[in-house]
Amino acid sequence: QEDIFKNVISHAKEYGFIFPSSEVYDGLSAVYDYAQNGVELKKNIREYWWKSMVQMNDNIVGLDAAILMHPTTWKASGHVDAFNDPLIDNKDSKKRYRADVLVEDYAEKLNVKAKKEIEKARTRFGDAFNEQEFITTNARVVEYLAKEREILERLAKGMSEDLADVKALIEELEIADPETGSRNWTDVKQFNLMFGTKLGASADSAMDLYLRPETAQGIFVNFLNVQKSGRMKVPFGIAQTGKAFRNEIVARQFIFRMREFEQMEMQFFVRPGEEMKHYEYWKETRLKWHLSLGLGQANYRFHDHEKLAHYANAAADIEFNFPFGFKELEGIHSRTDFDLKAHEQHSGRKLQYFDAELNKNYVPYVVETSLGLDRMFLAVFATSLQEEVLEDGSSRTVLKLPSVLAPTKAAVLPLVKKDGLPDIAHQIIDDLKWDFNVAYDEKDAVGRRYRRQDALGTPFCITVDHQTIEDQTVTIRHRDSMKQDRVAIADLKSIIENEVSM
Ligand code: ATP
Repeated sequence: QEDIFKNVISHAKEYGFIFPSSEVYDGLSAVYDYAQNGVELKKNIREYWWKSMVQMNDNIVGLDAAILMHPTTWKASGHVDAFNDPLIDNKDSKKRYRADVLVEDYAEKLNVKAKKEIEKARTRFGDAFNEQEFITTNARVVEYLAKEREILERLAKGMSEDLADVKALIEELEIADPETGSRNWTDVKQFNLMFGTKLGASADSAMDLYLRPETAQGIFVNFLNVQKSGRMKVPFGIAQTGKAFRNEIVARQFIFRMREFEQMEMQFFVRPGEEMKHYEYWKETRLKWHLSLGLGQANYRFHDHEKLAHYANAAADIEFNFPFGFKELEGIHSRTDFDLKAHEQHSGRKLQYFDAELNKNYVPYVVETSLGLDRMFLAVFATSLQEEVLEDGSSRTVLKLPSVLAPTKAAVLPLVKKDGLPDIAHQIIDDLKWDFNVAYDEKDAVGRRYRRQDALGTPFCITVDHQTIEDQTVTIRHRDSMKQDRVAIADLKSIIENEVSM
């Protein structure tokens, strides 16, 4: 699995999807740049989300709020006081660790140990070895697995919100500093994850600001503006995509946890008391959206939260099977009227809606869907990257991206660089490029060009050969089946359209 993940990272770099930020200066930790193909894939995921949320729902509208917001926003939202992750200081190494990440590391170590024991037994007993029997009879393995399960269960219950629990667990497990081996853990501290910055050039008059740690608050503070100017009736939603910033302590796992990332959020404003109905609806609807991409039902699962954040009365994650296991991909939260009420209190302004049907004013309740665009990118990219053994025994690397998301929809390839074939290829591109991203490639033998497009995830290769000059037909090769058909140039657009449209 580790190898698969390494492969994902190197493929992303080699084929121009993702580069480490500021690489000439050896990079910046947990910050990444989207390259020429990555930016297209990311844009297509964003559009797929936007169309399904905004275009397809007549009661959801879009918004693009600024990253910089009035600093009181973050007092009202609770981020200044409460948006903290428990940290553990190690006095010896003067390093700080995020508690849940540490526990995760420990669980991983236990897992490796358990696996080693199993391997040892397998070598010793050969064919007679029965893994299930071994696990149930081997005390050591049982112990490892039981501890691991306990850790995972506690993690799953949102343990990181309960500091005393984390501390007790860390002590109980005597987790050693992974670098120094020291067990001298001290205080669990709170740490504010927001990036601070300043508004105004002169030092004295400058105002302290934060880069937003979530896009949601830009929606809340605009709730009444949108409702009034758009004459929206509850229930209605506001959707937004944009950058968010969190000074994550342990940022790792490639683009899974970054310090600068993009969110795709939708806040749905509903009548108080009706929130559970909408919450259930959005849970199902968001899962269906994920499944529509065809990455496989078994790769998704819900994780319902037992412990809830201070603002929520129900919450669930859609988890995805990443190369490093099932992890949160999207959150669906019933946020009550916490945010709007808090903004009322801090601003002194009413954020109420007049419900003509009920003939009364109220602060709506909110159901939120919150998806990380970069995590979605990783889910799609990692699952699509496949190594296929072909009938003749050779193998190919193919990025089986959902066609609707592929950065380039077709590559047009002249069989040879002469006899007017490149000109015809360019004409075909000129016709198609109004509708799709199309690429041109004339370098290397055509077989190698096919493989390159496979690795880039391009659904179609269109090859122009000498027969094209005579009858205006080309071959079109399908990425997944590698099947080739002879078709008329005039039909290309509809063939591609059929496959790549939403
Ligand atoms: P986690 O527990 O993994 O830190 P979270 O519960 O803090 O995530 P939310 O605050 O609910 O996440 O944010 C909504 C979504 O934003 C997450 O489901 C995830 O897809 C994405 N997200 C959050 N933090 C990051 C990050 N540091 N890098 C990339 N994506 C992120």
